[in-house]
Amino acid sequence: MPFESKPDAAFKICMQKTCTQLHRNQLFKCPALSLYSLLEKRLRLEDIPRWKLFRDYRACSPDATDAEVRTFIATGPIPQCGLCPSRRIPFHHPDPTLVGADS
Ligand code: SF4
Repeated sequence: MPFESKPDAAFKICMQKTCTQLHRNQLFKCPALSLYSLLEKRLRLEDIPRWKLFRDYRACSPDATDAEVRTFIATGPIPQCGLCPSRRIPFHHPDPTLVGADS
């Protein structure tokens, strides 16, 4: 399920915000938005209203003007960012370089 964050707060800690994606011949703000349509099909999210903002997202199309592309690239938080987390949750995992070090 998506988060219920303030878009500004989520965007502030987002690690994807500089990862503009070229997907299906369109520019997407981030990987989360570019891959959502694939996840939606795979996880059958199409009937879940809370994902509506992601569903409604419109990528920057190939026929966009230079000004539209500049505006697209320059944007900060958008409403869709509210579906992302607004605080980081550390994920600790074993150091892979130490696996098997005892044997
Ligand atoms: S939608 Fe989410 S992942 Fe994409 S830029 Fe906004 S906060 Fe980051």
